[in-house]
Amino acid sequence: MSAKYIFVTGGVVSSLGKGLAAASIGCLLESRGLKVNLMKFDPYLNVDPGTMSPFQHGEVFVTDDGAETDLDLGHYERFTHAKLSKDNNWTTGRLYEQIILKERRGDYLGKTVQVIPHVTNEIKAAMKKVGQDVDIALVEIGGTIGDIESLPFIEAIRQMRQELGREHTLFVHVTLVPFIAAAGELKTKPTQHSVKELLSVGIQPDILLCRTDRFIPKEMKQKIALFCNVEDPAVITAMDVASIYEVPLGFAKEGVDNLALKYLHINARDRDMAKWEELVHRVYNPKDEVHIGIVGKYVEYEDSYKSLKEALVHGALAHNLKLVVNWVEAEGLESGDQTVQSQLEANDGILVPGGFGKRGIEGMLKAIRYARENNVPYFGICLGMQTACIEFARNVCGLTGANSSEFDQSTPHRVIYKLRELRGVEELGGTMRLGAWTCKIEPDTLAYRIYQTPEISERHRHRYEFNREYEETMTAAGLRISGSSPDGTYVEMVELPNHPHFIGCQFHPEFKSKPLEPHPLFQSFVGASYEHGHTRREQRKAATVEMFHRPEHVTRH
Ligand code: GLN
Repeated sequence: MSAKYIFVTGGVVSSLGKGLAAASIGCLLESRGLKVNLMKFDPYLNVDPGTMSPFQHGEVFVTDDGAETDLDLGHYERFTHAKLSKDNNWTTGRLYEQIILKERRGDYLGKTVQVIPHVTNEIKAAMKKVGQDVDIALVEIGGTIGDIESLPFIEAIRQMRQELGREHTLFVHVTLVPFIAAAGELKTKPTQHSVKELLSVGIQPDILLCRTDRFIPKEMKQKIALFCNVEDPAVITAMDVASIYEVPLGFAKEGVDNLALKYLHINARDRDMAKWEELVHRVYNPKDEVHIGIVGKYVEYEDSYKSLKEALVHGALAHNLKLVVNWVEAEGLESGDQTVQSQLEANDGILVPGGFGKRGIEGMLKAIRYARENNVPYFGICLGMQTACIEFARNVCGLTGANSSEFDQSTPHRVIYKLRELRGVEELGGTMRLGAWTCKIEPDTLAYRIYQTPEISERHRHRYEFNREYEETMTAAGLRISGSSPDGTYVEMVELPNHPHFIGCQFHPEFKSKPLEPHPLFQSFVGASYEHGHTRREQRKAATVEMFHRPEHVTRH
């Protein structure tokens, strides 16, 4: 069976949410009983985003097979059941790497290797691979129409239409219809220009998803339809919404799925979005708030922690709570204890996420100490687990100067080190422990109570790990190793049994959390944080009441 294809392109400006749009269409099509897969082409020349700065590129999303991918793949997994791998994200760099390798091997038999057909053929082959065994493959083309570097991808999708025909291919173009305050009206011209640009490379869009901050009136839709040569109902209002999980419902209201199925000649069952509707209802009707402090290095750029933030949202939704994140710049905590207390006390729970490099580490250690000593729920992810171990080694075990060899090569106590360094693989981008690894959970631990199973599989992205030479000293002082790789080599989870909720994991559970299937670690951490905050607020209230009702207070004046 060969899939039908929906190609998603973007015009006018970047950041219009093509990834979310593709994910939301995928979500709707699944609700109609169809099997979908999604993929993204990134036109840049890096082989993958693994070595790109999180400030520039945002989060690196990791799949089960250890591919370091674009963060849009996170949306795809959160909104659909598609199983993503390295096949689902291609960059120009990786395509060319493959082609040049073939050329050097002599696979092209002396022919001149060219963008058309050789590069476009590789692109089409990648699309066809993702289309195996599904009804519909959604293909997102990164970048904005008109970019030089996305041309080979646009040419490839044009050829796909030519090869497979209209009933098997659909072009969705995401565009912008801005409201110009000075004129007091929405403007259609950027969309017209963007479609004209698409036409110049041989693509007539079928559906226009018009991003806007207000509803587009019928007459304006008709005008866009006329100028852009699409049917009236194919001009869709894609309104700004407060929660990304509302996007599929907005598309449903506009009939995007009906339209796609009509154009692709697919008969499918009726849409059932009941679970998403219930979810969105919970998003907008929380019973209370929970305040989580994320102490990290890249906090000024939220996209660096995309999946993390979403996983916390899922954890909060599971308790019917609204998540409030306080982004705390780790470096800012380094100046004095007063600052730590004042910057952190408003939080019900504290989380140190993944990260690389030395900057902000001492601040993270202060935050962890604060959480440990004040019984504030703590959740350390990857770097956050490593720093929790360093903090415990220094301040509980008295191992002065304990550190990770990532931050201090000459530390007297390498509690975190690079075990695989001993195995002699050393090349940037090639030494990470990546992707899904099995972890065994110790019975009678917080980790076990959370997962309720002795074996789990989680995704990794790290170079350094806990040094078992310190296991005895640290466990004797009260640290519990609650998860390890099956052969015992790697420490995967640690916790403090004497603390209400202090847990760290070497893996990244945020990559596997979905709004309808919140990850147990996040659900548990957010629940414990809320409880902690709630108890604290109650205690404070009681203290205030007591103060004002003390007899001497009343009688003194
Ligand atoms: N820098 C640490 C390591 O390489 C942690 C990585 C992470 O948090 N993803 O092991």
